[in-house]
Amino acid sequence: MTNQAIADGLRHASDTRVIEVGRAILSRTGEILARSLAQPGRPLLIVADERTWVAAGEAVAASLQAAGLTQTEPLVFPGTPTLYAAYEHCETIRERLMETNALGVAVGAGTLNDLVKLASGELDQPYAVVGTAASMDGYSGFGAPMSQGGVKITMPCPAPAVVLFDLDVAAAAPKAMVASGYGDLAAKIPAGADWILSDAIGLDPIDPLAWDLVQGGVAEALSRPDALAAGDADAYEGLVEGLLLSGLAMQVYKGTRPASGAEHYFSHLWELDHLGADLDPPLSHGYKVAIGTLAMTAFYERFMARDLAAIDVDAVVAAWPTWDAVEADIRSKLTGPLAEKGVRETREKYVDAAGLRTRVQTLVDGWPSLRPRLVDQLMPARDLQRMLAAAGTPTRPEDIGLTLAELKDTFPKAMYYRSRYTVLDVTREIGWFDELVDEVFAPGGLWT
Ligand SMILES: [Zn+2]
Repeated sequence: MTNQAIADGLRHASDTRVIEVGRAILSRTGEILARSLAQPGRPLLIVADERTWVAAGEAVAASLQAAGLTQTEPLVFPGTPTLYAAYEHCETIRERLMETNALGVAVGAGTLNDLVKLASGELDQPYAVVGTAASMDGYSGFGAPMSQGGVKITMPCPAPAVVLFDLDVAAAAPKAMVASGYGDLAAKIPAGADWILSDAIGLDPIDPLAWDLVQGGVAEALSRPDALAAGDADAYEGLVEGLLLSGLAMQVYKGTRPASGAEHYFSHLWELDHLGADLDPPLSHGYKVAIGTLAMTAFYERFMARDLAAIDVDAVVAAWPTWDAVEADIRSKLTGPLAEKGVRETREKYVDAAGLRTRVQTLVDGWPSLRPRLVDQLMPARDLQRMLAAAGTPTRPEDIGLTLAELKDTFPKAMYYRSRYTVLDVTREIGWFDELVDEVFAPGGLWT
């Protein structure tokens, strides 16, 4: 079923040609790359760190040799401190690829993949990744988050041509990594609900293929958190495929909408604040996303407890603030360059009173069919919290070094941070936003 989904995704993906997930994939790497990546007269360059070299790199090198593929000396970064996605490392890899005329084979997780992805992209040449941990959904996506001069930005570059994943390697990876991947996949639940709402008002129409790719296997992939935490290799198939399908969906859609909604903005904002950046390894993407996901799932629960069809559209339109008032509010919630970004991004989704009337009326009229779709998409926050805990993923703000007040303060920031329309915007537009945020943090809530 899921393999069929991967085949469907590959037919429409812009960059990725081959995805293989299974047991004993490492020993088949040479055979697979011989037909999917290797080019006459060009060697392959394995890029790993000391840990991923032991976990998979050595076996990949042996498999390449057995398949008669030429390799140049592997580039192995130190295992400690944990390799960081810094542009200087990308330059090192790019130089080595140029000197040797080689094609890159990343052996590792998010950081190593991103470094080889960007280096290969800058040289306009394909590369392969052999994933070593089910830690996030970026393996099969385009673009590479990279820090340069102290700022982290996502640099554009194509996705890998070939993605290989050995389930025994994934199951043997540090537990924190699978816990992180589980958090990143759980995000597809509120992210999907955000897309449904944006589709409903005609802003971001749902692309059926991208939707099926990313949402088709999520429930199944999240269904065995205990087995994942216990390192059961077979349980990893759903999670790994779910994460890879999410990346493929982004390739098909040529954007991140299928895989992320407001929950990811919580994570991005904390990342900009360098939350957990001094830890080794640094606080992972999936851990931050997990808390953003729970926050948004709890917010959705409060939203769904009300009857949107019963709102007074005239009263909502009469109470709609002018752009100047919105801008003043943005500047009271965000500071520095982030305030400028917030103003720019929010301006894109702001409408005047007439536009608001159309938007709200559309939601009110569509609510009888919209509501059941959202109910199907969402799940109770406490259930999700239990599943995240079983996978070893953080479930409380303090687990990632945040206070409740800091988490609460992130809600308006996440609303203003990007032009992407989410449930945070819906509730701001109908005047519920502040009340719903208060309800999430009222006694008897998920964390109170
Ligand atoms: Zn993510």
